[in-house]
Amino acid sequence: MEKEIIKIGLPRALLYYRYRVLWRTFFQELGMETVVSAPTDHAILERGTALAIDEACLSLKIYLGHVAALVGQCDYILVPRVSNFGRHRAMCTRFESTPDLARNVFRNSGQKFLSYEVDQEMQKTGEEDAFVEMGKSLGCTAKAARKAYKVAKKAELSHHKERVQRYEQQYKKDGMKVLIAAHSYVAEDPYMGRMVSDYLKKAGVIPVRADMVDREAALKRGRDLSPTCKWEISREILGGIAMHKEDVDGIILLSAFPCGPDAMVNELITRRVKGVPILNLVLDSQSGTAGVETRLESFIDIIRFQEGKL
Ligand code: SF4
Repeated sequence: MEKEIIKIGLPRALLYYRYRVLWRTFFQELGMETVVSAPTDHAILERGTALAIDEACLSLKIYLGHVAALVGQCDYILVPRVSNFGRHRAMCTRFESTPDLARNVFRNSGQKFLSYEVDQEMQKTGEEDAFVEMGKSLGCTAKAARKAYKVAKKAELSHHKERVQRYEQQYKKDGMKVLIAAHSYVAEDPYMGRMVSDYLKKAGVIPVRADMVDREAALKRGRDLSPTCKWEISREILGGIAMHKEDVDGIILLSAFPCGPDAMVNELITRRVKGVPILNLVLDSQSGTAGVETRLESFIDIIRFQEGKL
């Protein structure tokens, strides 16, 4: 009898936008199948909002909607716990709690969850060892899991490098450029940042991304704006701004309400980055496209006015 292929569900939200290639390739290499929830729509947002507490950020509400969409569709849903990559390299605390949250919220569903735990600082568990443990929990040997991780990590890094190179080309184009400073899951989600980049393109503006930079270089440059910022992704974004603020006509600080790290970091950016117009745009589930478009339209007008083009 043929062995059943294990099916792993990947919620299309939060760290999916950073690790999709790593995850997909890892499971593929181990002979497993992945299933990804559909892009965020109104139903996913509504479902996630109903499952989350009011204080949860919009990104987390959307995440729970995606987990709900996968319940019953796969053998396991991947919900990683990524705490930190070492000292002063922390992730938002939401990424520590999502496995407990998902198991609790869906405790009566019968759905099984799969996790890996990255905590370099306290447990001395880096990403590679965490993936090996996850592979073993699925019945693979440590050797096979390590090999799959190495292939997957290589694929992820080369995918990110290609995307960075594509964005680097955007800076060379003629025309107004606006740098979007946001977590990738905010920038790329159709119900959050995607509408911002779509609007900019329609208005003839070239959108570029602060997180689409070489991550190691960005972590170093991030110190120019804040030597003490402890959040890994925020520091990468700070580094992206430090690297490209002279190449753009404006910066949009785009965040999901209520976001603790962004509230602090975006305030810091508005105080420390001078000489370029900055728009602080905070999205919540009620934002709607009309309100966002009005703010973007006036921001573009301000840039044109300052550049004497209006
Ligand atoms: S960084 Fe902000 S938007 Fe992202 S999960 Fe944490 S609180 Fe939510």
